[in-house]
Amino acid sequence: MPKKIAILGSTGSIGQSALQVVQKQKTAFQVVGLTAYRNVKELARQIKIYKPKLAAISDVKCYEDLKTLTKGNRTRILAGEEGLVAVAAESGADLVLSAIVGAAGLKPTLEAIHKGKDIALANKETMVMAGEVVTKAARQSGSRILPVDSEHCAVFQCLQGCPNPQEVHKVILTASGGPFRQLDQNQFHKITLRQALKHPTWRMGPKITIDSATLMNKGLEVIEAHYLFNMPYEKIDIVVHPESIIHSMVEYIDGSVLAQLGTTDMQIPIQYALTYPKRAFSPVDRLDLTAIQRLRFERPNHHKFPCLDLAYEAGKKGGGFPAVLNAANEVAVARFLREDISFVDIPKIIEKTLKKFRPLTNSTLDAILKSDRWARELAQST
Ligand code: NAD
Ligand code: MG
Repeated sequence: MPKKIAILGSTGSIGQSALQVVQKQKTAFQVVGLTAYRNVKELARQIKIYKPKLAAISDVKCYEDLKTLTKGNRTRILAGEEGLVAVAAESGADLVLSAIVGAAGLKPTLEAIHKGKDIALANKETMVMAGEVVTKAARQSGSRILPVDSEHCAVFQCLQGCPNPQEVHKVILTASGGPFRQLDQNQFHKITLRQALKHPTWRMGPKITIDSATLMNKGLEVIEAHYLFNMPYEKIDIVVHPESIIHSMVEYIDGSVLAQLGTTDMQIPIQYALTYPKRAFSPVDRLDLTAIQRLRFERPNHHKFPCLDLAYEAGKKGGGFPAVLNAANEVAVARFLREDISFVDIPKIIEKTLKKFRPLTNSTLDAILKSDRWARELAQST
């Protein structure tokens, strides 16, 4: 029997890579749900190929266009947030790939968790915003959260066969360092949008590409790792590794360090999450270490990249701070993408927003969503 999967954010970078994985393993998977924000053309194309039971377009204004483009197909077309939630929870999926970018992924992902579905998690913002709520819901429903983020997939693989978390000394997340790793800090005020959108090793959607340039992506990943692996922040380290070949490591108490290596192709972690606990052959490019020859490692520069400390601090504080960090970052990045603010303004806006936040005493979903809205308003007007 093929595994039934729903893909939230199927028109994005992760969504499209996931469909490539499915294409190569036609008998292993059946796509039962697809969603997109506004890209009607691409979603309609995917619906014709994969014939899912349900498909949803978030922007209700695009609903009629999608209906017209998919006329004659058996797929039920839905719209808006209810549509996303229905695809996540009611398409009959065994596993939901959460690949929407940003906070918009939280509700549908959480609904799928409540229904006990396995989650392949790419949407790290969901975990950063509401890690406690999400992990608690997964424990209650028995849903497994399988990391897609390459670093977390690497850690997850290095943790296989380790039943005792006390044996882990440290998790070491690797970071490419982004396009400004070697740029002098006094040149940062001149950084253009075009330069920031040029990632040295990975090709990804615009938001995560900017996060990789500010290193906020690594900050978000530290918080993601904290919740995914129930790991205290003191035990999560970052190492800059410009080649992006080692995707992350686990250091054990006996001094052994396990690493996962591979080419920079997201199809590898996506497929692992989709086939877990099994592995399946994949025709991806093979890693040739003799061609690469050299793997370099550096300490991250916290002074040049203040987003790292902002994320560690927010993570350690908890109480809604991670949700505020995430919301302020989403707004600041969107403003930078619109060329409304400069690159160096991004951490400043986040810091100002965090400073004004009064911590939550009880991190319920409602309280988190309220903090998210509060932070967005403030970050927009800062
Ligand atoms: P992307 O921008 O390429 O795609 C985002 C997808 O989400 C699209 O299908 C889009 O239609 C949909 N979407 C966007 N805004 C939405 C909204 N408001 N409501 C509903 N749907 C919306 O992004 P991506 O690079 O594929 O990243 C997706 C997620 O995966 C992010 O959380 C990112 O951090 C994470 N991730 C991506 C990569 C990568 O290689 N691209 C690697 C690791 C983690
Ligand atoms: Mg990553």
